[in-house]
Amino acid sequence: MDMTWFNDMEARIPTGEIRTRFAPSPTGYMHVGNLRTALYTWLIARHGGGKFILRIEDTDQGRLVEGATEVIYKTLKECGLDWDEGPDVGGPVGPYIQTQRRDLYAKYAQLLVEKGHAYYCFCEKAESAEDSGTFEKADDPCRDLSLAEAKARVEAGEPYVIRQRIPKGGQTTFHDAIFGSITVDNDTLDDQVLLKRDGLPTYNFANVVDDHLMGITHVVRGSEYLSSAPKYNLLYEGFGWAVPEYIHCSPVMRDAHNKMSKRHGDPSYEDLKEQGYLTGAILNYVTLLGWAPKGENSEREFFTLPELAEVFELAGVSKSPAIFDREKLNYFNAHYLREMSAEDFCAVAEPYLKQAIHAPQVDLKLVAPLVQGRCDTLLDIAPQVDFFDALPEYSNELYCHKKMKTDQANSLEALKVTLPVLEGLTEWSYDAIHDALVGLAEKLELKNGRIMWPVRTALSGKPVTPGGAVELCHILGKEETLERMQKGIEQLS
Ligand code: GLU
Repeated sequence: MDMTWFNDMEARIPTGEIRTRFAPSPTGYMHVGNLRTALYTWLIARHGGGKFILRIEDTDQGRLVEGATEVIYKTLKECGLDWDEGPDVGGPVGPYIQTQRRDLYAKYAQLLVEKGHAYYCFCEKAESAEDSGTFEKADDPCRDLSLAEAKARVEAGEPYVIRQRIPKGGQTTFHDAIFGSITVDNDTLDDQVLLKRDGLPTYNFANVVDDHLMGITHVVRGSEYLSSAPKYNLLYEGFGWAVPEYIHCSPVMRDAHNKMSKRHGDPSYEDLKEQGYLTGAILNYVTLLGWAPKGENSEREFFTLPELAEVFELAGVSKSPAIFDREKLNYFNAHYLREMSAEDFCAVAEPYLKQAIHAPQVDLKLVAPLVQGRCDTLLDIAPQVDFFDALPEYSNELYCHKKMKTDQANSLEALKVTLPVLEGLTEWSYDAIHDALVGLAEKLELKNGRIMWPVRTALSGKPVTPGGAVELCHILGKEETLERMQKGIEQLS
């Protein structure tokens, strides 16, 4: 076999640096487990000053979803997981989309046949039987065909697949950074298909060839691939290639017994964004699902992405499955919302404020700071501020507050004396309103709450509001304030 082409391929492989890859299949959305894999992969590369590579694994044409690759690009970009090599930016070992590498897999499968670690198989089997791995290698008559005979049948145009020739007897050991060394009997491994009848590789073959040709040093993926790892090792050995470091991550669970699954309604990254979570909070929380900082940072919870890149060590990755805890994510998100500058918060809150408030006189920049400290997610904004738009129906019971010492009768009195005072104000500023209301309470020798509570109730119709009476008057504007107080008086009379 002429090795020139193979030697050229070898010569392209970058060496002497950490190289990791995120290799999603374009299935339409980024589930939480996938996002975590992307994060760990990126963090290993950035922590070690290496390269992060994006590879699209689209050989399973049956699972393709239109537009899914765009979702991957968009999500990674939004998350700040920048890639050094990939389909759009190119790189020294492209192409980075598996279907564009089609011819290459066939060549490597043939090379493996020549080396005796794979064989042509002509048996008629349903693709499903091939994929399920239930096929018994001992039964396959093609395993023992001579190479010359097999090649003659290939040349005669007979359809075939190429299968891996797993050694009979013996054991295979592979090493994983998280799970340690694992040894299996070769007899438990099936002669899996490497190249399908349509000439496309299976995932199990393509990932080994690509990881080698792309110079990948660390392979991060879900622990569902653990059971295939011995077969990958045998492929690397068959080719005479070095095995990369494996990092298999335990699944992200929705509870003690079930993996998170989109089919069961568990959220993807896109869903979480729609549910009002900030990217930074999601990334911070998802990184901690199955990884914990060590040493001086062991008690620390909040990290930006660059901070994570600095402290991320494989030793912190856990073997046990992590449970996705919505309360914990809320806690992270609330923290991120609170830590934002007033300006940044106003910018992210604006669309949610606009959903609830259409009244043109309401200045959203004044409303935003009132809710900044009172939200777990951005979806908590609208229900808290909807009263600015329209006064809801409310019960007079709301005027009764034990601690404020207010009841319906004294609230009516309070609104009646306050109305003309506010009406008389020539300047409608926070300070002017504040001084007027506090001044009035002082003059009447009443506690502030006796005035403030009824005013706030009349303006909002709610038992709890972001902001107090003064803020509400100021934001609603003079005309609307007086109208709502008048309505309160009528309702109490
Ligand atoms: N394409 C595979 C997946 O999306 C990637 C597995 C791997 O990273 O090796 O599950």
